[in-house]
Amino acid sequence: MNNLIAINSIEDILPEYRQTPIGLLLEYHNLNRPLDPHDKARLLIGMCMDNRKHLHMPDNFAFIIRSGGANLRYSEFKVSYAIGVGQVSHIALIGHNNCGMVNLISRKNEFIRGLVDMAGWEKEKAEEHFMNFAPMFEISNETDFILSETKRLRLRYPKVRIAPLIYLVDDNKLYFIKET
Ligand SMILES: [Zn+2]
Repeated sequence: MNNLIAINSIEDILPEYRQTPIGLLLEYHNLNRPLDPHDKARLLIGMCMDNRKHLHMPDNFAFIIRSGGANLRYSEFKVSYAIGVGQVSHIALIGHNNCGMVNLISRKNEFIRGLVDMAGWEKEKAEEHFMNFAPMFEISNETDFILSETKRLRLRYPKVRIAPLIYLVDDNKLYFIKET
């Protein structure tokens, strides 16, 4: 995680995102900007379903789609809805460190055993379920995945501004991922 840009002051916000809803999110979450009232959503946030993360921001400020690894490939209609109907023109795509979708295959046995114990599934069904879906959700590493997902979404929605971010579960702060 050495390609991250910390945001400890307004000057750390990359110029292209200052004065935008993405800059505003960083001010609210990292810099304790007072929570202004919002009467409509300004931003779409894509983030992982992981329980260790909570964003500090005002009510009404953002649509949020949560999905394993912040993977929006299978949530495209919801992204389009937020843009088309919700009228947002900015997306913050937020990965995080220690993501469970990295090396998902190593959790195969745990996953299957858990579904059998917790949900009452047959072992074979659970195994088939894992093998069908794990390849769709497995990611190689958090920052590379967010960068590639950002590129994909920029091609798909060319007028929307999209920022690749990481949430560190150690300090609960947001960081930019350096784009080279
Ligand atoms: Zn995760």
